[in-house]
Amino acid sequence: MDFKVKNHSLNFVSKQSNELSCLSFYEKIPINDIDLETLEFYAVDRLKVLWEIERLQTAKKDYETAQQLSFVIDRYLPLSNKSTTEQRDKDLISHFLLRCCFCHNEEDRIWFIKNETKLFESRYYSLSPQDKRKFISENFPHKPINFQLLDPMIKNSLLMTDRLESKFYKIPFTEAGELIGSKKAYLNQGFAYFSEKVIGKIFRTQFNQKIAIGLQKASNIFDKFDERIQKMIEKLRSKNNTFFQFGNQDGTHIEFDELKNKIKSFPLCMKLIYEKLIQDHHLKHQGRIQLGLFLKGIGLSVHDSIRFWKQEFLKKMTEKDFEKDYIYGIKYNYGLEGKRVNWSPYSCPKIIGLKPAPDDFSGCPFKFLSTHNFKQILLNLEQKPNEEQINELISLKEGGHCQVACQRYWDLVHPGLDEPLNKLSGIEHPNSYFKYSEEYYEIQKEKEKEKEK
Ligand code: SF4
Repeated sequence: MDFKVKNHSLNFVSKQSNELSCLSFYEKIPINDIDLETLEFYAVDRLKVLWEIERLQTAKKDYETAQQLSFVIDRYLPLSNKSTTEQRDKDLISHFLLRCCFCHNEEDRIWFIKNETKLFESRYYSLSPQDKRKFISENFPHKPINFQLLDPMIKNSLLMTDRLESKFYKIPFTEAGELIGSKKAYLNQGFAYFSEKVIGKIFRTQFNQKIAIGLQKASNIFDKFDERIQKMIEKLRSKNNTFFQFGNQDGTHIEFDELKNKIKSFPLCMKLIYEKLIQDHHLKHQGRIQLGLFLKGIGLSVHDSIRFWKQEFLKKMTEKDFEKDYIYGIKYNYGLEGKRVNWSPYSCPKIIGLKPAPDDFSGCPFKFLSTHNFKQILLNLEQKPNEEQINELISLKEGGHCQVACQRYWDLVHPGLDEPLNKLSGIEHPNSYFKYSEEYYEIQKEKEKEKEK
């Protein structure tokens, strides 16, 4: 690996040609002149994808995970046979640069290999059948076997795992790696027989091993890099530890200074906790977790989250006390302390099930507020509800239909839409309430622009 900086640009040097496949084992470094800002931008986008992969692995809903993952990959690291040279370069360069960021200790290396392998796997399984065949023919050294000539016992075993249209392969079992452990291959006299469908598992093992070797090499040459590259790598490493651990739904990022303008999109549960914080310059434990995870979910970095809490708490306590008693909890939410789990924001059912202590504004207000207080909130809204709307909301609340009531409340405070943004009958998550609300304000902005034309 050879990185050279000329003035403000970085030259990636390789004696080999550019990688042209839409999926890569990252064995060749691309030849490019690239400025340092672009380089950093590429690396940061890759970090966003890797962190989203990390977050989704704890979500445990396979279908949603796959959908969300391809959304984030398409957004930050799109790669297909139609990709532009710039998109291919971005993928390759960002990978090599992050190798240098994650090569320094065992924990970082394991994290990087795990999430890069998941990214590789996700891309492999999203290839079209033609691209997959092309990738296999270029990267798998064995040819398909003639199924008809096989021993009947092997044929029957293979047909139990796949249909006859598939291609089948025979390789020394020592090369079959994960296929053996996962029982995806039939073993006979030192050979593994399997269908084309499961070759992805062999590529996965190979990818994993190649990245591990690549990280080892990167750690050996780190000291030889130009000082400017070393500085950038250090900066990216610290970004990885702080700014990019936001674990939000779709990879969006909200700056601390933008937060004030976003309060209008908060669901009632978060708005009430926020108001309590502003009023008391303090919040009890449950409120801090509920609001803190929500803020993380909308894209506030751990760095900005610390600024947010500090801004209020320091009106009542010293910086030293704040750091002693509260920084740990904030970092814990972002998976930087304790069990180091990238915790997800609470869903509506979870919040509805909370039991807020007296004077603690956590939980769901459609459950815990008295009818009198709830009515006062409705009467104080900018968009004044009529009697019928008030009665409907109160009856939904009293009937225990918190999420449906919350959806009606959303409709009330976001008037004038031609079509509903949420096709479900109730709000399912405070962060989706926020997302629909942000979309609503975008639509309103567009409408205003149209009017002005
Ligand atoms: S229904 Fe969900 S989003 Fe709405 S207030 Fe309750 S917990 Fe918050």
